[in-house]
Amino acid sequence: MLRILNYVLGPLNTNAYVIYDVSTLEALVIDPATDEILPKISDLISSGLKVVGIIATHGHADHVCGVKGLRELVGCRFMLHELDVEVLKESVEWALEWGIDVSFNDVRPDILLKGGEVLRLGSDEVQIIHTPGHTPGSITIYIPSSKVLFTGDTLFKESVGRTDLPGGSWDKLVNSLRMLVTRFERDVVVYPGHGPSSTIGYEVDNNLYVKRVLRGRY
Ligand SMILES: [Zn+2]
Ligand SMILES: [Zn+2]
Repeated sequence: MLRILNYVLGPLNTNAYVIYDVSTLEALVIDPATDEILPKISDLISSGLKVVGIIATHGHADHVCGVKGLRELVGCRFMLHELDVEVLKESVEWALEWGIDVSFNDVRPDILLKGGEVLRLGSDEVQIIHTPGHTPGSITIYIPSSKVLFTGDTLFKESVGRTDLPGGSWDKLVNSLRMLVTRFERDVVVYPGHGPSSTIGYEVDNNLYVKRVLRGRY
């Protein structure tokens, strides 16, 4: 069984998530947005948690500025989709503009994801799904045992990710959104990169972008 912890970090209110197996206490950190996450992780480690991996849903600065410090703290590997390595490099400049500390700028992924990987967290499967559009290497993380999706900046409650940043593609985002809302059941919970959580069913009923995608209007 999994538990999910959510921390809202940084100037863009990014959702960082810690997911852990309650029996083995193995944990994954998703989108460690800033170093503000470090004391929180230290506390969790003191209570027995073992961080076994760091995953970024994509390479934008507001999702990865805590990676370097966290990797040093816990000594585990950082995973990013291979198509977002360039985005990660460019993020340094944006971070400066956004007033985010850029001490992460020598961070390189230890594991390059392609999509389709199945990781293990205790007794749970963690599926990596390539959902390009917001960036070329955006991923969505699905945990079937808990029916939860971590959608990064692809799908938000009542909104979707912007595609006007370098590497963004509206057509790819539409395809990714269509895949998500048709593949997953209505009760699957959506944990986005910003803002409150939702469900696939709520988004199908209330997200104007998703409704248009499903009607073939894009
Ligand atoms: Zn982003
Ligand atoms: Zn973001």
